[in-house]
Amino acid sequence: MQNFTLSLSNLICATIGHHYNITNKITNHINEYKCSSCGKEVTEDILGNIEDLTLKQKNINKSVALFFQKKMHRKYFNAHEKPVL
Ligand SMILES: [Zn+2]
Repeated sequence: MQNFTLSLSNLICATIGHHYNITNKITNHINEYKCSSCGKEVTEDILGNIEDLTLKQKNINKSVALFFQKKMHRKYFNAHEKPVL
């Protein structure tokens, strides 16, 4: 039964395409997605291309997310350092 369900999901995805939901927001432009039918995971790379979410890609995303958070943090504080007139 498990195998039947899995292959049916794959058939649906192959026919009408994957139904991706965002699972992880890396930056404003890069997200990780998971298909709600078959569980396939993909991500956008820095160029906006969709790639399979491999362990290597997950690690890259983690680094990008960390870098992005630091940048946003700095931006926030710089904005608040300006004197209010
Ligand atoms: Zn799918």
